[in-house]
Amino acid sequence: MEEKEFYQFKGSYQPTEISPVCANIQNQLPDMMEGCLDKVSEEIVQAHLSVCYLCEKVWIEMQKTVALIESLPTADMIQDLTPKILSELEKEIERTIPIPWWKKYF
Ligand SMILES: [Zn+2]
Repeated sequence: MEEKEFYQFKGSYQPTEISPVCANIQNQLPDMMEGCLDKVSEEIVQAHLSVCYLCEKVWIEMQKTVALIESLPTADMIQDLTPKILSELEKEIERTIPIPWWKKYF
């Protein structure tokens, strides 16, 4: 009756819940990003990424984030630019996002 149990398990499976395998893989992604994962673990993670859409998505997002952080100017420059960026951002937000109706009550 193992097969039946398997299908019952599948039927009650919640796609929003991450499987323990995926959780384990995703835990190792930051290490792989920094290149401090051992060869065997890296191969396991890579093999999983090639078959698991969810984990691949997390990996791609992680790579994008790191690329973004690395493309940022140095801390000094960020400090100089912050007020300018913030005011530009505010302008952009005002332009693109209409003020929510409830705002006028505050
Ligand atoms: Zn996965």
